[in-house]
Amino acid sequence: MKFSNYFLPTLKNIPADAEIISHQLMIRSGMIKQSSAGIYSWLPLGLRVLKKIEQIVREEQNKAGAIEILMPTIQSADLWIKSGRYEEYGKEMLRIKDRSDREMLYGPTNEELITDIFQSYINSYKDLPKNLYHIQWKFRDEVRPRFGIMRGREFLMKDNYSFDLTKEDAKISYNNMFKAYIKTFLRMGLTPISLRADTGPIGGDLSHEFQILANTGESTLYYDKDLESLDPQNLNPEKLQSYYAAVDDHHNENQCPISKSQLKISKGIEVGHIFYFGTKYSEKLGGYVQNNKGNKIAVHMGSYGIGVSRLVGAIIEAFHDDKGIVWPTQVSPFQVSLINLMPENNKCLDASNKFYSQLINHKIEVLYDDREVSIGKKLSDNDLLGFPYQIIIGSKNLKDNLVEIKVRKENFIEKFNPEDAINFIKTQLNTII
Ligand code: ATP
Ligand code: MG
Repeated sequence: MKFSNYFLPTLKNIPADAEIISHQLMIRSGMIKQSSAGIYSWLPLGLRVLKKIEQIVREEQNKAGAIEILMPTIQSADLWIKSGRYEEYGKEMLRIKDRSDREMLYGPTNEELITDIFQSYINSYKDLPKNLYHIQWKFRDEVRPRFGIMRGREFLMKDNYSFDLTKEDAKISYNNMFKAYIKTFLRMGLTPISLRADTGPIGGDLSHEFQILANTGESTLYYDKDLESLDPQNLNPEKLQSYYAAVDDHHNENQCPISKSQLKISKGIEVGHIFYFGTKYSEKLGGYVQNNKGNKIAVHMGSYGIGVSRLVGAIIEAFHDDKGIVWPTQVSPFQVSLINLMPENNKCLDASNKFYSQLINHKIEVLYDDREVSIGKKLSDNDLLGFPYQIIIGSKNLKDNLVEIKVRKENFIEKFNPEDAINFIKTQLNTII
């Protein structure tokens, strides 16, 4: 993509209403535009990140055996009246009436709808277990939408729902998802910390929250430092759940079961939450199957959520410096910035155009900064955008047949001849999982 053809409105100044760094950087790098409180348009660059995160989430769900569907955003109130949550959900639920005065709502979550789909088609224990997910926009009329897309009113969530015959089987599904969650966050370059959580209004007796470490996070986490060095190939959910981890209001120094030297304290951001809630919804909404003795049994359910749009902000909170965003390669909107410092110089133009076609031929995602703006603006904009590699082309280096590569993470610059430059980037990108 050529910058001059793209739609990428960068801003130099920090927007006045953006309190936290990820919100500031997302506005400054032209990723989102607020349309009303807690509701945002995703501009091209932001959308690329959102899609990449969504895709990682999808791949890990599929690998774990969950099956993708798509449920609507608008739901009828009927099922919610049956489950008892229509009143209980209160003002967070956006309620709408259609032209025939029927009560509808914009879904804040989908336990009711999915149980209804399940009960319409599944009648026998032989069809269990089942695990269905979708990635869909939710609406919650939060009391205080804030921090940009981190606490929005409209936000993208991956939510899935497991159905099992017994509690024991449901725990297997739960642990399977637990593992998939850790893998998902590790693949994004994040450090996930799982914590035992309250089940809240969803009900049930088992729940974990997943936070990712970020210095600017809202919660303070106390946890076993071994949780920081997990091997994605070798994850044991039961063992992971036995490690100590707590948010500050649950942590008591005198009752902490691990030694001071093993305890770490860091800031975190919640990005996922999983629940086992037994037969709460299946009993109310007809989620019964026949067991092998012909008896009708209410299925044991779990629900599992990942804040896909919140992750965009959370990743920026975890990875930025004073110049801008420092994207982990796996979710970076582009892999390479190709920066032509002197578009008016024919040699620079030829060399840059050549690089551009080579990068495209190698299927490397490149944003070619061909704009006629000052060198200073070009360099600072590209640091702000924070793609992992920058190829910088200037006339002085070209005379020696050299270009510069900047590795954004280390802000480290090295000179290469053009061929080696492409090979260096290819090698670096191939090492990413
Ligand atoms: P919170 O305590 O942050 O309000 P929650 O317990 O209401 O979260 P869940 O209903 O479990 O959240 O939703 C699953 C995930 O969806 C959360 O872990 C979070 O990442 C994301 N999420 C929840 N509310 C919002 C929101 N208002 N804006 C963006 N993402 C959200
Ligand atoms: Mg909430």
